[in-house]
Amino acid sequence: MRQSKLFTKTTKNLSKDEKSVNSRLLIKAGFFDKLMAGAYSYLPLGFLVFKKIENIIREEMNGVSAQEILLPSMNPRKLWETTNRWRYKEIFKLKNRKGQDFALGWTHEEVVTPLVKKHVHSYKDLPVAVYQIQNKFRDELRTKSGLLRGVEFMMKDLYSFHKDEKDLNKYYEKVKKAYFRIFKRCGIEKETFLTLASGGTFSKYSHEFQTLTFYGEDLIYVCPKCKIAINKEIIEKQKYRCPECNSKKLEIKKTVEVGNIFKLKDRFSQAFDFNFRDKDGKEKKVLMGCYGIGLGRLLGTVVEVCHDDKGIIWPKEISPFPIHLIALGETKKVKEKAEKIYKDLQKAKIEALYDDREDKSIGAKFTDSDLIGIPVRIVVSEKTLKNNSFEVKKRNEKKIKLMKLTSLEKYVKKYIK
Ligand code: ATP
Ligand code: MG
Repeated sequence: MRQSKLFTKTTKNLSKDEKSVNSRLLIKAGFFDKLMAGAYSYLPLGFLVFKKIENIIREEMNGVSAQEILLPSMNPRKLWETTNRWRYKEIFKLKNRKGQDFALGWTHEEVVTPLVKKHVHSYKDLPVAVYQIQNKFRDELRTKSGLLRGVEFMMKDLYSFHKDEKDLNKYYEKVKKAYFRIFKRCGIEKETFLTLASGGTFSKYSHEFQTLTFYGEDLIYVCPKCKIAINKEIIEKQKYRCPECNSKKLEIKKTVEVGNIFKLKDRFSQAFDFNFRDKDGKEKKVLMGCYGIGLGRLLGTVVEVCHDDKGIIWPKEISPFPIHLIALGETKKVKEKAEKIYKDLQKAKIEALYDDREDKSIGAKFTDSDLIGIPVRIVVSEKTLKNNSFEVKKRNEKKIKLMKLTSLEKYVKKYIK
């Protein structure tokens, strides 16, 4: 994409109430726009990152045999009364002109359970796992951490249905592994801890995936040896000890919950009277698990973890573009060469962000490039062309390398792999 055609610009004008690192950098670099507290518009660069994250999640969900669906955001009141959750304060509620009540979906157990019930009757129909990637609505009280807490936000919610606990447990462990692959591919594996959290009334624990960040709202106790953590809310129950090695040497850290997995057991199949006929001919309750990841929160968390004082440093797999190609100086020779490189890359199906802007100084181009944070920067200038070369610099390194133009495509292809 030509930077001269990108309709968004980087900006220095930020409102003072933008405190979190993620919202400051993402707004400054032109990835997002704030509509109101807790609601952000995805701009072209931000939407590209979002789609990469979405794809990673989709691949990993399909990898655990989950099937993608899409449910309505607006749900009838009756469903929420069935589970006694219509009273929840975080639900946004609407009325139509006939006076009927609706909830804007803040989670979807109430919709997905009766839906799957229509198709599952026998043990032969189980297990089933379905997920969607969709916007959720929640009347949150605190919305000051940028993308980390929205009133409207994108979530991947997966629901699984099983014939017995053994099958639920097996699937739960599979999803746990898929979650770690997702966070690894998004570049925050090292900072993300599997965390024991309260399981409500349905099971002893649930698991959260908590990532170290200053703007997170959670506190966890980490065992540095086992790399496992316990959420502060259940640490007393756990007697301040590591569940693996029993050590009391735990470190308190500030974190944000990027995902969680939960055994619902028969909480919702009871409410919706969802039974199946088992092998022995008996009617039994279906057991359920649910598994969430906030995509906007994950994107914001990556920025909280991966940045420096100049801007964002995107992990390779979710960068809006793999390469930032920059033409420096306005001579005909530089222009022609840069154009050729850009077109050759396109032919090789590598979409670079190409800074072809003619009215920007060298300093301004480099400042924008650091702020936007594409992991590899390729520069052609009068100086590099004298040696038939280009300059390459990684966003997270200081070193600048001069390489022959003839090796450019090979270098880029190898880097992308
Ligand atoms: P929190 O404790 O942070 O409010 P939660 O327990 O309410 O989270 P869930 O209802 O389990 O979260 O939602 C699943 C996932 O959706 C969370 O792990 C998180 O990644 C994301 N999420 C939840 N609330 C928000 C929000 N207000 N804004 C952005 N993402 C959110
Ligand atoms: Mg919440």
